[in-house]
Amino acid sequence: MRLLLIALIISFVSPAKSKNKTPDYLSGCWEKQVKPFKNIYFEMNYSECKHSFYHSFEPWQQMTTKTTGAVIMKKNYFYQDDSLKTAKHSYTSQTQYDPKTLLYIDYGDSVLSKISLHDFKEQPIEIARYSPIFIIDMFYKNKSVLYKASTDSFAVYELKRNLSIMKLFIRKSDSLVTKFTILEDDDLYGDVLSTYHYMDFKSIDKFHYAKSTIIEKMNGKITDTVNIRSVKTRDNPGTNLSEPKGYVMEDEAPAKQDYSIEPYSDHIHFIKMKYTDDKVMIVEFKDFVLMAEAPLNSKNGELIIQEARKIAPGKPIKYFTFCHFHPHYIGGIRAFVHKNVTILSPISDTPYVRYLVLNPHTLNRDSLQIDPRALKLTKIKDSMTITDGSYEMKIYFIGKKSKHTNDYLIYYFPKEKMVFEGDLVWINTKRASKASPRDKGLYDAIKDLKLDVDTVIQSWPVNNYNVKTVIPFSELEQYVNQKP
Ligand SMILES: [Zn+2]
Repeated sequence: MRLLLIALIISFVSPAKSKNKTPDYLSGCWEKQVKPFKNIYFEMNYSECKHSFYHSFEPWQQMTTKTTGAVIMKKNYFYQDDSLKTAKHSYTSQTQYDPKTLLYIDYGDSVLSKISLHDFKEQPIEIARYSPIFIIDMFYKNKSVLYKASTDSFAVYELKRNLSIMKLFIRKSDSLVTKFTILEDDDLYGDVLSTYHYMDFKSIDKFHYAKSTIIEKMNGKITDTVNIRSVKTRDNPGTNLSEPKGYVMEDEAPAKQDYSIEPYSDHIHFIKMKYTDDKVMIVEFKDFVLMAEAPLNSKNGELIIQEARKIAPGKPIKYFTFCHFHPHYIGGIRAFVHKNVTILSPISDTPYVRYLVLNPHTLNRDSLQIDPRALKLTKIKDSMTITDGSYEMKIYFIGKKSKHTNDYLIYYFPKEKMVFEGDLVWINTKRASKASPRDKGLYDAIKDLKLDVDTVIQSWPVNNYNVKTVIPFSELEQYVNQKP
């Protein structure tokens, strides 16, 4: 018994000792993958397939970009020549990075682009697509410590930086980085994880590289691939971009929260959000309020809720609706869920709405993350009438008739003979323009629904891009029926 007690005491005392004995996997990895390249360059020719979300017809649709090129790297130096081929043309871009400067010439340009400090700070992450050398060096310099979830096969190191958490997975058997993850904050989606899988290792001289890298972005919704076609080491970088005199990298000042309130009728108010370029609508009924459109993020959602409370004090916000799923209209939805507001959504958007509401926002916490509430959702099929018994508005699903998205809603106010919509009308105020499919789509939808309309009011933009946003219906009619 006494022996057991002594053994127990020893085992309690010894962790510090055994901790000291833990091999320093990060140093081992740095010695193997970074140190040999203090003065020697390696050059890799690659082909790459990238995907990204865009202002698509349906949620989660992706755009594919295929490029080929070469990167030349050593510790603290990166140069890239990237080629993008379209059916008719070929464009190249050049990037050059060291710990002090990022220089970039965009596809088809001959002069340097303006670079923000944010881009500069993020460049090592960009480079991780081709090699983890900059990331390993960053972990090493920051004396990152072993992460508690390290396994038998992998030593995992963690590094927190700005609003992100990075993890480096070093394979214990050969000290090579096989995986790198970064959890970042996205204005719209909240916490998003990217995982870089380094696979199929090869070596030449002292250089160990992954022949293929698979990058899962946006919590696994997007997958990019980089394949290395050939590799060589060299003693000079070859071409170099030169830094012009007086070159500076700087972030733009954050946009001032510039907005104004515009009463439209006894029941309708608009918030003209100059800094996001959107018009938000507040509809006041006898004993409740409906709000439509909330641009970009939760912060804007909170702001417009505050304004609605000033405009209609004491009246609860009962409904929130958005004309389609693009970020300028749905971005602030979480603030409304947090206030127990019922969300009105076309049926097809239900999974997307749930994703926005449920995905964690732990890195940049909003009200719904701090104080979670259940989503109250009412699905709109063809139309819905909101009324207090005397005043009413109608929400119509026009979907793909909009020629813009598959989920489009428009709002009709019979008393005002007004339609409010998001971004369908493109009448130029400065020069003659032809009606687009969107202009025709809205016009046809209004005609099909047999709505008696005098005026169409559009949410985007509010700053002047020579686009008309208060449109007499007669003018829209003339516009879409003009002879070519
Ligand atoms: Zn849109």
